[in-house]
Amino acid sequence: MEIKEKKVKSVITKSNLPDADFVLNPYTGCQHACLYCYADFMKRFTGHNGEEWGSFVDVKINAPETITSKSIKEGSVILIGSVTDPYQPLEAKYKITRGCLEKLLEFQPRLEILTKSPLVLRDLDLLKQFKNLRVGISVGIFNEGLSRKLEPYASSPKRRLEALKKLHEEGVETYLFISPMFPEITDFRELLELSRDYADEVLFENLNIRANNRKRIFDFLRENKPELIPLYEQIQKKDNSYWDNLETEISGYCKKSKIPYKIYFHHGTEKNGK
Ligand code: SF4
Repeated sequence: MEIKEKKVKSVITKSNLPDADFVLNPYTGCQHACLYCYADFMKRFTGHNGEEWGSFVDVKINAPETITSKSIKEGSVILIGSVTDPYQPLEAKYKITRGCLEKLLEFQPRLEILTKSPLVLRDLDLLKQFKNLRVGISVGIFNEGLSRKLEPYASSPKRRLEALKKLHEEGVETYLFISPMFPEITDFRELLELSRDYADEVLFENLNIRANNRKRIFDFLRENKPELIPLYEQIQKKDNSYWDNLETEISGYCKKSKIPYKIYFHHGTEKNGK
């Protein structure tokens, strides 16, 4: 793991994501090295071409200092952690995310944080001081063994859900991000039932098979779920029927169970070169 400290001009940048106007990524790269991660397109923009995703992290060492009143547009939403995990293990040492939160406190922006790590609980003292903040925890696979293979360095799904529960108990608004949904592997009903007492909303995102993660995903399937290969091949050939049916199933289940939800499906078509 190559770790470099880098200075940046700004840490808040404009976003094209559906529910965030701006994003804040305290690190470039991610120690969690999830096999399905598609954020590795960042390598092209950050001088890491040719390096393995998960083998490097640039620490934006001066990130908190770059946050000023000019960085915040009134009423806009800032998402912390769109292409990195803001609470990956390095954060315990560097506290860049914590420093950014300390700085953001005085501006009280609309804030969302997305992570796979219980380390977020360290910052409960700060999180509780924001008037408009919610924290999302992502869990796509609850099965411990499969999660170890897909997300080798992230904390266990069980510990993530425990963290979500604790956030809720402490009065922080929460959401569960069921992402990525692996066809015929992710059991969304199980996750909904486990989290229904402490997830204020549930967001769903499908698995995105792209040129850069396709080999890793199919290698995983060959080793663990070979019987699913034909389905995944069908999905990556722009056949949206699986996602359409799943969307109907999720909507029906959530409505019946009165669970607030949003579905972000891009229909799993392969997007080359992204
Ligand atoms: S935690 Fe998120 S950003 Fe980090 S490797 Fe996993 S999917 Fe990618």
